[in-house]
Order: sequence, then structure tokens, then C-alpha cells
Amino acid sequence: MMVKCNRCGREIPDSEKYEYHGQTLCEDCYIDRQFPAKACDPWAVYSATRSRQHSGFKNAEGLTDLQKAIYAFVKSSGRVTKEELLKNFNLTDSELQAQLATLRHCELLKGFKEEGRTYAIPFD
Ligand SMILES: [Zn+2]
Repeated sequence: MMVKCNRCGREIPDSEKYEYHGQTLCEDCYIDRQFPAKACDPWAVYSATRSRQHSGFKNAEGLTDLQKAIYAFVKSSGRVTKEELLKNFNLTDSELQAQLATLRHCELLKGFKEEGRTYAIPFD
């Protein structure tokens, strides 16, 4: 049986889930809650930081294909509204929020509001 991580939206086997303050979390998010770290994947930091920075795709390791696709889409467009993302990736509002939260956490994307609309833009 698969369950969904409440934080990043990833599907995980029921046996690998963690309960934290009433939320169901995957291992990564659980660890992240316990030990907040700047890097996206706390276990990869020790070994992979250098090579990931070298490849120009730092922090992207450990992302789901969907998160990578959202990141690539925003990066190529420069600035994307929430509505465009919902439509393009066929997501519900809460699903998108979960994906964006992970991408924000990984410092790949950030959001901003202008004239009542919410946009996602590349982090740097
Ligand atoms: Zn998670």
C-alpha cells in the first residue's frame, strides 16, 4: 500500500512512512523536520555537494520527476503564474503547493505576488 507524504507529495510505501505531529511524512521530510538543513537532501550533502555544484544543478538531486519538470518549466519561462502551473501539470491546488514547497525549500524556485496574482520564478 502506498501513502502520500503530506509535505512533498511523494508516494511512499506504507511501511516507510513517518508520523510527525499528525502528518504522514516520507523519510526525507521527517528528517528535515527533525534536523532542519539548508540542503535538500541531508544525506547527500557530505559526498555530493561538490559534484552537484559542478554540474550546475545543485540541490536538484532527490527531486521527483514532476518537481524537476516544474523547475525546468519555470526556469525556461522566467516567471509563471500559479494558474499556468496548475493547468500545465494537471495538478490540484494543494498538490501544487506541496511541490512548490519542496522546490522553495531546495532554493530552486521562489514565489512572489503582484497585483493579486501569485508567480513562481527561479530562485536566483
Ligand atoms: Zn516528503
